[in-house]
Amino acid sequence: MSDSRAFCPRCGDPVPERSADEADAADPLRPGSEVDLCDACYFDEFNFVDAPDRIDVRVCARCGAVYQGNRWVDVGAQDYTDIAIEQVSDALSVHVDVEDVAWQVEPEQVDENTIRMHCFFTGVVRGTPVEEQVTVPVKIARQTCTRCGRIAGDYYASIVQIRAEGRTPTSEETERAEEIAHDIVADMEATGDRNAFVTEIGKTDDGLNIKVSTNKIGKKISNKMIEEFGGTINDAETLVTEDEDGNEVYRVTFAVRLPPYTPGDVIELDDDDAGPVLVRSAHGNLKGIRVTTGERYEADYEEGASPDARKLGEHGDAAETTVVTVEDENAVQVLDPETYRATTVSRPDYFDPDAETVPVLKSRAGLHVLPDEGETEEPT
Ligand SMILES: [Zn+2]
Ligand SMILES: [Zn+2]
Repeated sequence: MSDSRAFCPRCGDPVPERSADEADAADPLRPGSEVDLCDACYFDEFNFVDAPDRIDVRVCARCGAVYQGNRWVDVGAQDYTDIAIEQVSDALSVHVDVEDVAWQVEPEQVDENTIRMHCFFTGVVRGTPVEEQVTVPVKIARQTCTRCGRIAGDYYASIVQIRAEGRTPTSEETERAEEIAHDIVADMEATGDRNAFVTEIGKTDDGLNIKVSTNKIGKKISNKMIEEFGGTINDAETLVTEDEDGNEVYRVTFAVRLPPYTPGDVIELDDDDAGPVLVRSAHGNLKGIRVTTGERYEADYEEGASPDARKLGEHGDAAETTVVTVEDENAVQVLDPETYRATTVSRPDYFDPDAETVPVLKSRAGLHVLPDEGETEEPT
């Protein structure tokens, strides 16, 4: 046949021959696409926009998370309109043949839980401009997500107990523990972890209890605490229950035991007459300086952070007092801050001979010159 005209498979009308390029571009995934319908038949069944009759969205009334697929997701939406727009754009689809598709949406708040989305589409298909308007009602169901439900139900999987050996933790230590807990949770939330939260922080007679949502968070808090303050961690598992799938659920208690002495403490070591020690670090072995000479002190490996000792006071107890005279290499006279009598005390090597006043600590071990405040931390 010399006449190679094509015909519409639907109505039999002749259709213009397609170029070879177009024929090659026929989509193998759409059988029959190699034979074109005439424009009339094509537009007859052409459906520009595919839209659902309505969209139901479950939103957590507490945190704004949206239920997607089979889980709650933080969408970072400012309000329910943002959520509705997001959901509608996910749910709408346009015909693949249409080029230059543009659309806009006008949300209409119908009532507290219904937003009607008026969507206007334009595009070009077969050289013909097309447009369509669809209206999709979005119904917002306010619920409580799993996380908020757990928070409200005081759920926790782990307790971190902040304690200290032979003393109660300082307010600096407990405040830092709270800060660490919140920082760790905030970091995990920032990576999209919805299961991270602090359930409760409570003071006890001997320290602080921090209840958190996962064992991992408990472990992180504990590790960070001893990284900063020294000390040890003991963890103990308790079987709490079985979950829906029959798996055993353990709650882990992390007992953080901070070292007995903290930087700034002045202690007197048992069986030792080399003079009191100003503690500078409790990481690993206790380290400090002798307040009689300024020499370095470090506890044995076996003693670790808790050598046998008694606390005499701390740097904060020191009083600034007048230097009366420097006697020699080993001795200096200062005013006793209580009696105002000139008193000879040992001269540590951190003593500044030009200083008019120095901090001194008066304790049952006598009067000792301490270094200035900034020098109480272990140099790094
Ligand atoms: Zn036709
Ligand atoms: Zn929530």
